[in-house]
Amino acid sequence: MISYPLYDSPEGRTPFDEYKNEANGVPELKPIEAEVLSCYKKYEDAVNNGIVHTLTPHGFVQPEKGNLQNLYSSDCDVAKKVRSSHNEFTRTERRIYHNKCPYCVLSEPNTLEHILPKGKYPEYAVHVYNLIPCCSKCNSHKGEAILNKNNGLPHTLNLYYHDPDKFEFLQVECSIDSNNQPLFSYKLNFPSNADPILTTIITNHFNRLHLIERYNEEVIKTYTAIEPIIKSLCSGKNISEALDAISNYFATVTSYYGINHHEIALLRCLISSSQYHTYLNRLL
Ligand SMILES: [Zn+2]
Repeated sequence: MISYPLYDSPEGRTPFDEYKNEANGVPELKPIEAEVLSCYKKYEDAVNNGIVHTLTPHGFVQPEKGNLQNLYSSDCDVAKKVRSSHNEFTRTERRIYHNKCPYCVLSEPNTLEHILPKGKYPEYAVHVYNLIPCCSKCNSHKGEAILNKNNGLPHTLNLYYHDPDKFEFLQVECSIDSNNQPLFSYKLNFPSNADPILTTIITNHFNRLHLIERYNEEVIKTYTAIEPIIKSLCSGKNISEALDAISNYFATVTSYYGINHHEIALLRCLISSSQYHTYLNRLL
């Protein structure tokens, strides 16, 4: 998961201006402009207070509902703007973000996600803070529901304001299979003093987006990409020097990726797992 920067009036325009620009070409929306703009104000307050999930739909009915929903298309102005803002962001921060979906950090973001779905919340169909780039898998797993019925908290992190790196929670365990190859499996493990609300939202996020399963499916590929780096870092070293070298590499990449990135959790396991050290000894 990646915390995402909130657009600071991209291109010098606020969401208010954005709506007006879209509405200029849709004269039938003029009669509800004041209502929509008051919804926009509520949305921005909710973003500032980290409570977008508590917003209730305004209740627009047809034909206004359809007119508002129709403002959004994948090539509407606001969609283009969010994409170009994202591209600019990933270009300047490329070492950190590698142009990955902020929800899973596995795939490229190839779609735009409505944080509050436009079916229920047509008033936010083109609100720039209601859109975030993500991958189609996360988009489809997230679906339309906003709140988890069991705990009343959002199904997914809102990466415009939730910080998934407040504490370390993603762990990898290593075992060695009958062919003497390492096997890895991910799990969530929260520190006892972690904020219980954020802990619940992170758990919801992982469950909703099937992230543990998806990380486990990818881990052999992830490890296969890392092993040549490990081999070159550890070449000619004893196990203690090798672990120091991996730890130094870990410290550098953690500063780029954050503490709960799936590759960082894997590296943490390589450094701490005695099972992996047995395997590493044979690599040296
Ligand atoms: Zn994703």
